[in-house]
Amino acid sequence: MKYCLECGGSKVEHRIPEGDNMPRHVCSLCGYIHYVNPKVIAGCLPVWEDKVLMCKRAIDPRYGLWTLPAGFLEMGETLAQGASREAWEEAYANVELDRLYALYSVPHISQIYAIFHARLVDLNFAAGEESLEVALYAEHEIPWDTIAFPAVHKTLELYFEDRRAGRLRSHTGDIHRPDGASGSTAFDITSV
Ligand code: ZN
Repeated sequence: MKYCLECGGSKVEHRIPEGDNMPRHVCSLCGYIHYVNPKVIAGCLPVWEDKVLMCKRAIDPRYGLWTLPAGFLEMGETLAQGASREAWEEAYANVELDRLYALYSVPHISQIYAIFHARLVDLNFAAGEESLEVALYAEHEIPWDTIAFPAVHKTLELYFEDRRAGRLRSHTGDIHRPDGASGSTAFDITSV
């Protein structure tokens, strides 16, 4: 950030404001402090019989890879509204949200993922603007090697594990940056 969003023209400096303990972008003229906080991603796992609805991304990042319908929460929106809206925008899917299924912190990119378990109401889904293709996949059909995000991969793994065990748990935890040595993402998730 270079210029103040509050008063328009003035330069901002990156410093720790009085009474704070983190560096912020502070306007050198009007003193406005530009707080930047993590973003929330709301999504769902739409289920039809033994299948899950997935979307092939038509946008960057991760163009051409598969994901669950999910996206940034809008201002003034509830988590549930955001999850339903994303299902409609990305897959023209009518969903009935059941309950929050997974909640992850992804601190290295400052994101929070909230994913609902949902029932797909009908089969009138179709690719939305941000999708190349949408499809219902059973566990053995899931394109495991071309999934866009670790949070989505983990959610699908946990879901099919729950299905096999005949009960849905709730999954809460953290997803950490791939570590240099193994190159694999670290998951610290509690399932109850
Ligand atoms: Zn200013």
